[in-house]
Amino acid sequence: MGTIRLSSGGSMWMRRRFFISSTISSSLITSSVTILPPISYPFPFYNKATTTHSLFQFPWVEEKTGIPMKGSKVVLKGMRYPELENWVQSHGYRPAQALMLWKRLYGDNIWARNSEELEGLNKDLKRMLSEHAEFKALSLKDIYTASDGTKKILFKLEDGLVIETVVIPCRRGRTTVCVSSQVGCAMNCQFCYTGRMGLKRSLSAAEIVEQAVLARCLLSHEVGTITNVVFMGMGEPLHNFENVIKAADILVDEQGLHFSPRKVTVSTSGLVPQIKRFLNESNCALAVSLNATTDEVRNWVMPINRKYNLEMLLGILREELRLKHNYKVLFEYVMLAGVNDSIEDAKRLIDLVRGIPCKINLISFNPHQGSQFKPTREEKMIEFRNILAEAGCIVFLRLSRGDDQMAACGQLGKPGEIQAPLLRVPAKFQGALEASL
Ligand code: SF4
Repeated sequence: MGTIRLSSGGSMWMRRRFFISSTISSSLITSSVTILPPISYPFPFYNKATTTHSLFQFPWVEEKTGIPMKGSKVVLKGMRYPELENWVQSHGYRPAQALMLWKRLYGDNIWARNSEELEGLNKDLKRMLSEHAEFKALSLKDIYTASDGTKKILFKLEDGLVIETVVIPCRRGRTTVCVSSQVGCAMNCQFCYTGRMGLKRSLSAAEIVEQAVLARCLLSHEVGTITNVVFMGMGEPLHNFENVIKAADILVDEQGLHFSPRKVTVSTSGLVPQIKRFLNESNCALAVSLNATTDEVRNWVMPINRKYNLEMLLGILREELRLKHNYKVLFEYVMLAGVNDSIEDAKRLIDLVRGIPCKINLISFNPHQGSQFKPTREEKMIEFRNILAEAGCIVFLRLSRGDDQMAACGQLGKPGEIQAPLLRVPAKFQGALEASL
């Protein structure tokens, strides 16, 4: 549910060209959005029309060994350190040499993209790596710069699909990279541009990790050290659970990229079984997109609620967070005028999160082409915030676009002609939507 205002005509983003890849596109981002008529419950939406391979068969994973492969080569960035060490040892080299390789990939600001860039490694190991290892998972396509300094990076995948990664410089020395976990998304949240695409495929761990590596490599000199990672780009991260968990493990490795687990945040629309697993298997932070205070509204704006309703979602958080110390879930609440921004909503929200250690981000909705929602007025957001704060909630307003961009997943991507359908607007909100137009 990202908050990047997409510039369909390219007006907001200034593009910067890079001449390091033959895959660089010369065309500006354009989109033609066809909104299909509302139909009943098309969820989840897999966009089979626009992909040629099985959704969950990653082109780079060797199923028998679990080692990620591209052709006959292993994909280095798809391995956790112990896997990499085992693989290096299986070729007759010492663990210390595996560690040197790991540091050249992630830890020493070298960001090796081929065996020639592996300073200090012996020649035999370099030769072995050039024969048996693949260093790259992504090709740079373009970089756009928003008026507030936010950078949007387009990467091309091996199969020609394109993903988007966002780097958000922030005052207070905190710069965040927002990574994608899927191409498109199956969740069909009604306010989200990415959701319109449907799901084309999930990303491999290497494709996720390399977004953060290249963001640091390409932009650190401009935006400062990238300190935070949020899984709030294209896709529902917990719908690609194994690869996201693996990528998060690689991101926090102390000998490598060394992001603090508290500064790596995985966002979800509310996949309850995966939330339970995540809280048990990862030390990274969790964000949950709530966006409604009743099942009626959430069933509409976030169809995942029809499978895992508010009671189930908040119940699992209440139960699991009792067992974790010093851990707060972040609730994201995109404010949609006339839909979820009433005083009654604020009061219900207080009741819903009672007993859950949490922070709440109130996020201004950024309309996109074809969206039926409008943002809540700023004064109303402040009033909403004050009601929560007076009740003792830890609550933040994300009013500006720059802040918005680090607060949610989505509104990225480029829906094609075949899009996930919009759901029928419940009768009681039709007036509100029209009034807010
Ligand atoms: S808001 Fe997030 S989970 Fe929902 S459709 Fe968009 S990308 Fe997917």
